[in-house]
Amino acid sequence: MRFSFWSLFTVGVVTVTIMAGVVTMESGMAIKKVPTTHKVVALTFDDGPHPATTPALLSVLQAKQARATFFVLGNRVKLYPALAADIINSGQELASHSYTHRFLNRLTPEELTEEIDKSESIIAAIGPKPTLIRPPGGGYNDKLVWELRQRGYTTVLWSIDPRDWAGKSVQRIVDTVVNQAEPGSIILLHEGEYAASTPAAVGIIIDRLRGQGYEFVTVSELLQYYEIRP
Ligand code: ZN
Repeated sequence: MRFSFWSLFTVGVVTVTIMAGVVTMESGMAIKKVPTTHKVVALTFDDGPHPATTPALLSVLQAKQARATFFVLGNRVKLYPALAADIINSGQELASHSYTHRFLNRLTPEELTEEIDKSESIIAAIGPKPTLIRPPGGGYNDKLVWELRQRGYTTVLWSIDPRDWAGKSVQRIVDTVVNQAEPGSIILLHEGEYAASTPAAVGIIIDRLRGQGYEFVTVSELLQYYEIRP
């Protein structure tokens, strides 16, 4: 099959606005990383909140004065509302990862509405209405991204995946992230018992990338760094 450059633009309209020197992007495309020359990256944590990891992650982010984004499951926010409130009160970003972790690209319109709306209302009861969503398993297609856009969401994927959920050591996670980091990277990490090495790895990742001049921002902040290449 011949690759078509224009197929990149079939998802929807991308509007780029330049205001007072700041470039912002309203995207109908799934975001895997943000083109920028600034040394900024986004740490993201999926599948929480979880008592095994949320307090430890918030503690390390607070100690390092770093910002991150938590893509939470609505049914886990229902289970642990205090942990979700802690995420917001710590100044971190809370975003949607659906309600029950179903593959959104395989749902009927009614099922999709339920996954999105139930998660949205439970998150909005604690903090701001989420504007970012990460489809579970990274399962998406153009139609899904467009439908999520109509519901007010930007679809966020990732550019670095150290597979921290697969029982990797702290060292393996750190090395993968540090070796692959570049301006605009979105780093996929997880919450839960199976991501036990992740909080320790995050502390080292922050130290090592800061040593290279990187800043850690939320995904919403990262989108503000979107640069148009001439
Ligand atoms: Zn997930």
